[in-house]
Amino acid sequence: MSYNRVVLKFGGSSVATVERIRNVAGRIKGDYVDKGYEVAVVVSAMGKTTDNLIELARKTSSVSDGREIDQLLVTGEQQSAALLALALKDLGLKAKSFNGSQAGFIAYGHHTEGRITDVNPKRVEEWLSEGGVAVVTGFQGINELGDFMTLGRGGSDLSAVALAVALDGEFCHIYTDVDGIYTADPKVASGAIKLSSVSYEECIEMAALGAKVLQARSVEFASLYKMPIYVSSSIVDGEGTWVREEGIKEGLVIKAVVHDKNVAKIAVLGVPDVPGIAAGLFSRLAERGIGVEMIIQSVMRGDVNDIAFLVKETLLGDAIEVCSEYAREIDAQGVTYDSEVGRVSIIGVGLSVHPDIPAQMFSVLSREGINIDMISSTSNSITCVISSTSVDKAVSSLHKHFMEGEV
Ligand code: ASP
Ligand code: MG
Repeated sequence: MSYNRVVLKFGGSSVATVERIRNVAGRIKGDYVDKGYEVAVVVSAMGKTTDNLIELARKTSSVSDGREIDQLLVTGEQQSAALLALALKDLGLKAKSFNGSQAGFIAYGHHTEGRITDVNPKRVEEWLSEGGVAVVTGFQGINELGDFMTLGRGGSDLSAVALAVALDGEFCHIYTDVDGIYTADPKVASGAIKLSSVSYEECIEMAALGAKVLQARSVEFASLYKMPIYVSSSIVDGEGTWVREEGIKEGLVIKAVVHDKNVAKIAVLGVPDVPGIAAGLFSRLAERGIGVEMIIQSVMRGDVNDIAFLVKETLLGDAIEVCSEYAREIDAQGVTYDSEVGRVSIIGVGLSVHPDIPAQMFSVLSREGINIDMISSTSNSITCVISSTSVDKAVSSLHKHFMEGEV
């Protein structure tokens, strides 16, 4: 590991305006360059640039073509990277921008959802060893044809972690618009506090279950290569949160209560209980790019089953279409859905070995008069699907119970 080499990442809101880009340049200089670090910086596109480019393409043409969308979207990060390099030069630093191809990001898979296969940052390394600051575009790589690929929305976090691994950096510092990772959303649970550190497992679980701070894929990648991540604000000073390997502790610590209102529930009812039915349904959904979560198949009633799961609310229409068509084909009894649901989860490593925890969680919800629609658990979390109007109340009472010592 190179002990004085770091990778920093600034998200879209941190570089949304010229003023903010200049502020970011100052942070890079004061926080790291002046202290003798070798610095590579990964940036997102300015503010809502990516959304705006997508909208522009939609207005220009009714054809949706992933390759062209990718060639368009990568320009957003190329703007912010070049501008930040200029701002760093203005402060008297040696700086140069590199796009995904120049920085050696190799990707494969479907356009707009590329996956990183390799990072060969030779030019970046050379520049660092010459004492330069490298500014690298997030969210992009090139495929085997040399075409640009983007890495899925929010993909710059992943770019930053992957670059930190490839450069053998000491850690990856993700500057964002919140000042760390909290025990719950402070806007919903007034007693929420900032965590000084969380383990990879906890953070993956938090990201997957709706916490907005880090992209789940980037934390999984960090965990795989044991790359520590430090999250803090790009605007205000103060301690942030470490995501890193933590020592094993006996005794349960519930680390966080997270929630997600942007989900919808869909169920295929009375599905014939024969092999291949679930395979058929989820293949159809996958073909349409519809990600599903929290799949629950109920116990058999006679010779039929119900299969229920969650999708992102924005994908509900597509999911209903796929499920209804499939239900007709296999002679299922029907499809129901509900977009007015949300999920709330408690997270803590090893929580499944504490038999009283589910009971406590369900009791808190029942005391608040909240009906539970679906339940699922992993070794590190328990999740309940409830009506979306009850989510805030559920989060604050679960936080009070598990984290503020209220019974
Ligand atoms: N600019 C891309 C997006 O908005 C990537 C990122 O911000 O991480 O999704
Ligand atoms: Mg972003």
